[in-house]
Amino acid sequence: MLQQEASTMDLDIHFLDKSSDFPAGLISHNFQIGDFQNFDDVLSFGQDKDILTIEIENVNTEALKQLEADGKKVYPQPYVIEIIKDKGLQKQFYLKHSIPTSSFFIVENKNDIINKINDGSLEYPFVQKSRLAGYDGKGVVVIRCENDIVKLFNVGSVIEELIDIEKELAVIIARNEKGEINHFPITEMIFNEKGNLLDYLICPSDISENINLKSIEIAKNIITTFEMVGVLAVELFLTKKGDIIVNEVAPRTHNSGHHTIDANINSQFNLHIRSILNLSLGSTEQIRPFAALLNVLGDINSNVGPPTYHGLEEIINVNEIYPHFYGKKVVKPLRKMGHVNITATTKETLIEKINKIKNTLIVNNEES
Ligand code: ADP
Repeated sequence: MLQQEASTMDLDIHFLDKSSDFPAGLISHNFQIGDFQNFDDVLSFGQDKDILTIEIENVNTEALKQLEADGKKVYPQPYVIEIIKDKGLQKQFYLKHSIPTSSFFIVENKNDIINKINDGSLEYPFVQKSRLAGYDGKGVVVIRCENDIVKLFNVGSVIEELIDIEKELAVIIARNEKGEINHFPITEMIFNEKGNLLDYLICPSDISENINLKSIEIAKNIITTFEMVGVLAVELFLTKKGDIIVNEVAPRTHNSGHHTIDANINSQFNLHIRSILNLSLGSTEQIRPFAALLNVLGDINSNVGPPTYHGLEEIINVNEIYPHFYGKKVVKPLRKMGHVNITATTKETLIEKINKIKNTLIVNNEES
């Protein structure tokens, strides 16, 4: 999606990933095969580039730091990526800067957790989050009672209180080198309970002006404190008590902003490019009164294999729906295969379209 945006600006943009079968490889003329977690691969990729950016935080930050020391612009800055990609360091950052978040502590392994349960210092329910390499709910588990202990991961983790969530919100915000900041209208996210990953989102969210302002203030505070350049996705919980707290952030364009491709004057990808090139940040206004993004996930009962998209004929004729398929070669249960953006003049028609697509569009490994 970054390539698609960059090509309209005639930017010479290059990508690094493990296989040219991966989404960027399908549309980028400048695709280099390599491992973004490998020091040498990242270093050699970056050596002849002017500006480097990321689409996933699980990258080799040592190589990015080296490139930064060599005079390259690396946005978001490697020190920001290092803090954010470790959920433990991320939570400590919120604590240090008095940014509201759920209470937590850090453990080394599963035994630490069991010991704390046994000595009475940790009570059910709680949430375990793997410090590293978690995304789309992988690496997050809710432990409600003794029977759930089998679900614990044996890795360095953050243990958080289980929040009674009223709504999950996201603010996509960006900052350029000059320190200018801009953000999109706040979205409301609905999660797939089976996979703990985003099912669909609606924009604008149905929240009070007060919550809206508080959420934006928190997002601005985080991006300014990091002095980060680029797009930052700030995921928030509105609690049943009415508090607004940070769940986590991602220093990149994010699933909770993909609707902006079709629903806003400029997309989050446009905003990211503007911010890392230190251009003015432009308009983030939503063009239609209501917008949604529906993730297209592999059917829960699908076999693993080449995907078939069912129901496309039926949904393609619905006005103001915009399918984006990522060209993944293999479907798996609940794997993110693409998304559909939807716009509408009323919330009712928006919800109708979401339901229509959810009931019609199925991706699995069956021919018919
Ligand atoms: P990921 O990095 O995999 O997206 P998150 O930290 O965003 O992981 O957690 C995934 C989902 O799990 C959240 O969107 C939310 O629905 C639920 N969740 C995470 N932390 C908590 C918590 N402390 N209390 C209640 N639910 C939580």
